[in-house]
Amino acid sequence: MKNYYIFAVLCISFVISCNKPSYSEKEVLTTEQLLVASETTVKGPRLSLVADQPIKNVIFMIGDGTGIAQLYSGQLQEVGVDGYLHAQRLPVTGIVKTHAEDDLITDSASGATAYSCGIKTNNGVIAQDTEGNECVTLMELAQKAGMKTGLVATSGVTHATPASFATHIDSRNKYSEIAEQMVESEVDVILGGGLEYFIPSDSAGSNREDQLNLLLSLREQGYAVVLDKQAMIEEDSEQIIGLFSPSGMPSMNRVPSLAEMTNKAVESLSSNENGFFLMVEGAQIDWGGHANETPYVVREVKDFDDAIGVVLTFAQENPGTLVIITADHETGGMTINGVNRENTIVDIAWTSTGHTGTPIPLMAYGPHAVEFSGWWDNTDIGKKVADLLGFENFPLILSADY
Ligand SMILES: [Zn+2]
Repeated sequence: MKNYYIFAVLCISFVISCNKPSYSEKEVLTTEQLLVASETTVKGPRLSLVADQPIKNVIFMIGDGTGIAQLYSGQLQEVGVDGYLHAQRLPVTGIVKTHAEDDLITDSASGATAYSCGIKTNNGVIAQDTEGNECVTLMELAQKAGMKTGLVATSGVTHATPASFATHIDSRNKYSEIAEQMVESEVDVILGGGLEYFIPSDSAGSNREDQLNLLLSLREQGYAVVLDKQAMIEEDSEQIIGLFSPSGMPSMNRVPSLAEMTNKAVESLSSNENGFFLMVEGAQIDWGGHANETPYVVREVKDFDDAIGVVLTFAQENPGTLVIITADHETGGMTINGVNRENTIVDIAWTSTGHTGTPIPLMAYGPHAVEFSGWWDNTDIGKKVADLLGFENFPLILSADY
């Protein structure tokens, strides 16, 4: 009986392994997709440590699902094997552990809440603790301190990462409610996709089940609502919401690009003498990882890296600016198996179509950047930013009767 069992298992494994394309068949990229450049290219000079001084602005950038292999494959595509991306120009690197309260593998809601609130929570939960109590976010404390605030993302702006900085809800999937909370959040600049949850159900492309017109509510509050790149560029209101696609922004021919949205946000927020807190998310590096599509990943890493270039230029010109670039988790278990120098093909392999528990990289530049060097838990990063900005009582949980 035992022998039959082993034989059956062997047969099943054989069938499964034979039906599954090998990694190299499935994932090898053509030269057009992933060319290993023959000349060294750098995106700009390597940045140095800067003298400590009070922090005026914080730009917190999250490459969703971005591990070392995602960044490195983006580097190979963009600047070749000897080149350096903008993300690789920062003087300080750290490593971040990402587990959620209820799982070794985090999702973007729990991952972003660790940064925004400095606490562990369960997967799927947006800026609440495991008991359903709200936690105060860095962005809310920044507003209290007189800083301007901004959220920029290539997903819908109601997606888990931006939502975790400005809203509080027990499920990341309650997009309509998140949009309503976003309207009340008083975040000064909100740019990305996600129009579908801001327009009434009888409007074309709406994904709401009610007749709320949140664009109207936003206009009544004084926001300028922009729906295309040109309108975004020309708008000079203090408060701007730009929604450029029904849900996530397109990956191919994205208009505006993450760099263009980031540039607008920085330009608008930097008029404030008390500084600003801006969160920028390259959301779709994760989506390319879920799909195990390397060309998607490297395209999104480039879009994210272009935005990093904009941010580093601003930070160099405005010395009180702390830049933190990290991820919420790794996606896909992506790894680089080798490269054939003769025909310039890189062999990428994946171990998962979901998130993994592998710790992720962090890069920092600006005053106090060196304090982010080393291994950290993701909650430590939020706490450190709060500490550097002088926000006391952080993390802060609001009890139900608050
Ligand atoms: Zn994901």
